[in-house]
Amino acid sequence: MDFEKNQILTVEIVDITSEGEGIGKIDGYPFFVKDAVIGDTAQIKVVRAKKNYAYARLEKVVTPSPFRVEPSCSFHKQCGGCQIQAMSYNRQLEFKASKVKNNLVRIGGFDKEKIAELMEPIVGMDEPFHYRNKAQYPVGTDKEGNPVAGFYAGRTHNIIANTDCSLGFSENKEILEIILSYMKKHHVPAYDEVTGKGLVRHVLIRKGYYSGEIMVCLVINYKEKKFGAGKEGRGASAEKMHAKGNKALSFLPAQEELISALTQVAGMTSISVSLNTEKTNVIMGEKIYTIWGEDVIHDTIHMRDVENNFAPMGDVSGKGIEFSISPLSFYQVNPVQVEKLYSLALSYAGLTGKETVWDLYCGIGTISLFLARDAKQIYGVEVIPQAIEDAEKNAIHNSIHNAEFFVGKAEEVLPRKYEEEGISADVIVVDPPRKGCDEACLATMMKMKPDRIVYVSCDSATLARDLRVLCDGGYELRRVRAVDMFPMTVHVETVTLLTKKAR
Ligand code: SAH
Repeated sequence: MDFEKNQILTVEIVDITSEGEGIGKIDGYPFFVKDAVIGDTAQIKVVRAKKNYAYARLEKVVTPSPFRVEPSCSFHKQCGGCQIQAMSYNRQLEFKASKVKNNLVRIGGFDKEKIAELMEPIVGMDEPFHYRNKAQYPVGTDKEGNPVAGFYAGRTHNIIANTDCSLGFSENKEILEIILSYMKKHHVPAYDEVTGKGLVRHVLIRKGYYSGEIMVCLVINYKEKKFGAGKEGRGASAEKMHAKGNKALSFLPAQEELISALTQVAGMTSISVSLNTEKTNVIMGEKIYTIWGEDVIHDTIHMRDVENNFAPMGDVSGKGIEFSISPLSFYQVNPVQVEKLYSLALSYAGLTGKETVWDLYCGIGTISLFLARDAKQIYGVEVIPQAIEDAEKNAIHNSIHNAEFFVGKAEEVLPRKYEEEGISADVIVVDPPRKGCDEACLATMMKMKPDRIVYVSCDSATLARDLRVLCDGGYELRRVRAVDMFPMTVHVETVTLLTKKAR
């Protein structure tokens, strides 16, 4: 059957792609329909028809799916950040669990029955909104010339005004409104990507979940110049002035007024500017100057009781690990779920206090420090030097002395340490980026023959690929559990345990 562009059809949505689009079929020919929910009967309009499949737009929901819910955000279609907000949360969890299961079977080649048996229930959230501890809002100008903050529409760079994202904390709106009204009052121009002119590019907001501390960083198109005459010192650079502890440097018109308004927000702890004059999609500039308060905020990650539905631990072992977070630090964005994720990884690691443990792709050492208290020695490896600096500081701050960190690629550091220095491993934990582990890294892991490997993954397709390699190389898949770190989006995190096969 041939289908044409703009053709209107009615289909039943019978499946979901891994990107969250609905799939409708006519005589086995699939239509991928963004915003359609599995179970909908939908009127669709063909956008692009290929030989074996077509893309279509949702025109009208004819009969809504029992899994369809009213999205809490009126912008969810334009934004694209929450691909599955119109799907009930329980159905989202089911979708994510089966995405992991399907990838393990199809890509990993694992037996379907075995996976069904191994997989533990997906770990969801009780309150799946307002979970993000970090938000980055682009700032622009609307048709009337007013400053706006919001999000980029779809894959464009047009800003749609929305200061009230359903995933962010409630303070975001208050903070953005203070900044926008300050910009309006003092005619502070928003940055224009086309001309490269204007000042305010982005607003970064972070909040410590337990500490309540809030950090605001304004990313500004400000060329660092010598600070001229006056009390700020003749000819000294901002960097030099700042190094002397001078926080009174002025980067913004009427800066004091902005600061005084922002400090009214409960929890305000750190206000900074990041200088970025590059024409780039990279949000943050390299130089950051605190203009009020602290340079960092703090947050704590507590261990939770995995066996008891992740209940908080009351005893000493539940004592949290505290982290310092700067505007540039990588830090997991869902503070509630991250405790469950790490507790699960720790429980899979099965530590008794005697083990040498490697934490590959360790970031700022969050998992490493979590494991450290129950291990003999922890080694962390991470490619970003600043993250390792943070990891080292966080270890000292938490009086953890059995953690050592190395800067470099896991696939280079691990072979070097193993082959040249003979360092061993009882347990290896990996938490790689979406592309998964490098082959050389997997090969070294197998040579090192740890008793257990805990693989934490944010992409179940590459996870499945890597697990296949490890299972062909002497390991057995023992436990699998998905954790929903990003409700309303199609992303899902997975924790797995592999043990060395007895020979
Ligand atoms: N475990 C940490 C970070 C996980 S994100 C946490 O939970 O917070 C993955 C990390 O891997 C990032 O910090 C990234 O910088 C790092 N990374 C990416 N490629 C790497 C490589 N080849 N070797 C080591 N680290 C790498």
